[in-house]
Amino acid sequence: MVIVMEEMATDEQVSAVIDKLVKLGFDIHRSTGVQYTVLGAVGGHLVDTRDIELLEGVKEVHRITSPYKLASRSFKAEPTQIKIKDVIIGGREVVMMAGPCTVESREQVMRIAEIVATGGAKVLRGGAFKPRTSPYSFQGMGEEGLKYLRQAADRFDLLVVSEVMEPSQIPLFIRYVDILQIGARNMQNFNLLREVGRINKPVLLKRGAAATIEETLLAAEYIMSGGNHEVILCERGIRTFDTYLRNTFDISAIPVFKKLSHLPVAADPSHATGRRDKVPPLAQAAVAAGADALLIEVHHDPENAVCDGAQSLLPEQFEELMRRLRLIARAVDREIAPGVGVVAE
Ligand code: PEP
Ligand code: MN
Repeated sequence: MVIVMEEMATDEQVSAVIDKLVKLGFDIHRSTGVQYTVLGAVGGHLVDTRDIELLEGVKEVHRITSPYKLASRSFKAEPTQIKIKDVIIGGREVVMMAGPCTVESREQVMRIAEIVATGGAKVLRGGAFKPRTSPYSFQGMGEEGLKYLRQAADRFDLLVVSEVMEPSQIPLFIRYVDILQIGARNMQNFNLLREVGRINKPVLLKRGAAATIEETLLAAEYIMSGGNHEVILCERGIRTFDTYLRNTFDISAIPVFKKLSHLPVAADPSHATGRRDKVPPLAQAAVAAGADALLIEVHHDPENAVCDGAQSLLPEQFEELMRRLRLIARAVDREIAPGVGVVAE
């Protein structure tokens, strides 16, 4: 921490700040310039910088270390790779996760699983417990939905990612899914974060619609501090002053997360935009920006989808997107798995 004293700060004020910092366990390096006295405080306990800012004679306080540790690049320089069966998230391959917004029936999941597997996806997405804005909207099929996801994934050699909404559901999720998703609305549900921190299954952590990058990394830190270091960060759009699309896709979050953290980064252009015509360009941008995985909603009959039909790609759109994404991946030294029946170029 660096503390800049006011130009007119008295010796007593400087000494009072030093005493306070020493009490907090810091070593102090004092430098007295012509205009300002600057104190460098090293070590010590985690403090609320405002407590120091409020001391008499203090002009500014700057934190130089990040408040998250385990999630930071300084803790671990090399990128984290998460291996689930034969899929590696955070490696050279950009892993495609695709499927419906919500599980509607066994037939629906089977059909969509086949479409996305054929297109080259490695992970089947689908909600069985849905966080809906209205209590009157469809809330999900529950355990039955998880069962269908598992059966479809096993049939088409896919992994399963699905959203867990509360700690009591975790044992059920451990039984059926490969990756537990924490939704945007639950990104700061600290109780839930702590609980998924105790398990040994990967967690896909979505950035909250109003969460800063630092808050998102601190949410990851909650999970990691419990012992579970297999966290995938996911940019899914944030709320800004613009209302044209469902959210504003913060593409810059991808390289920023990757600079600040060693964790793999996913992007969800479906929830970020809310419209299927805007999903492909942003999916392409996300791969170009360095995303390690994409989460895309796909539906064989989006007009009759129970949830988020407007942002779900039609099967042929998904196939076409995968073709384009492979070209982009190659241009940025990455790769995307060939679809079934597609000859690798
Ligand atoms: C979802 O992926 O199904 C979902 C609800 O997304 P988000 O939490 O990003 O809104
Ligand atoms: Mn959805």
